[in-house]
Amino acid sequence: MSGFVGQVALDGPSGTGKSSVARAVATRLGAAYLDTGAMYRAATVAVLDAGADPEDVEAVAAVVAGARIEVGTAAETELVRVDGVDVAIRIRGPEVTRAVSAVSAVPAVRRRLVERQRALVVAADAVVVEGRDIGTVVLPDATLKVYLTAAPEARAQRRAAQLGITDPAEVAALAADLRRRDEYDSSRADSPLRPAEDAVVVDSTHLDREGVVGRVVELALATVGAGA
Ligand code: C5P
Repeated sequence: MSGFVGQVALDGPSGTGKSSVARAVATRLGAAYLDTGAMYRAATVAVLDAGADPEDVEAVAAVVAGARIEVGTAAETELVRVDGVDVAIRIRGPEVTRAVSAVSAVPAVRRRLVERQRALVVAADAVVVEGRDIGTVVLPDATLKVYLTAAPEARAQRRAAQLGITDPAEVAALAADLRRRDEYDSSRADSPLRPAEDAVVVDSTHLDREGVVGRVVELALATVGAGA
């Protein structure tokens, strides 16, 4: 055990390597892990399966209110279910990725999922929580808040490498999709993507994954015994 007790809030835009960093940090700290993006993605699966229009605020709210969304809190395994069905693979597909920003902009959806997120966090002594609004809204008193950024080109390249895409036109399309999601997430009225005032900003443009993980672990361990 690392000795770390508390909550690490890890926020930032897409394509910064946030998820793999968050999982690795949780493993190193012996902490639980919560991927809040997976919850919004699971809600989006429910909306699509119900045949509702992701832009129809009332229809989206009604579907999500009736859906049973379950996520695991272990860093080593990914558990995501909607009404008992495993959707861990489906939530990463293009159909869900296209619609998730609209679904997550609906205030009733956010209220519901934030309540679940807080309940899951309370159950853990040490936890790493990743998302967009963890430091600003979900856990304003988190022990440590990190905002992970990277230059847009670096983010598109990383995402392309993850997906095995090399065609320049496809990489450009990926970059455009990242920009579209960032704009949507940053400009929505409810819980927009932005760093908390007391967040440590970590720029991963010139750092590899291990470098970022090491930095976040160091920041987390510095809170142990520091009266945090
Ligand atoms: O992190 P990930 O890319 O899986 O998140 C998918 C989408 O879910 C984001 O683009 C954002 O619209 C939404 N999201 C959110 N608040 C969070 C986590 C994710 O609005 N805390």
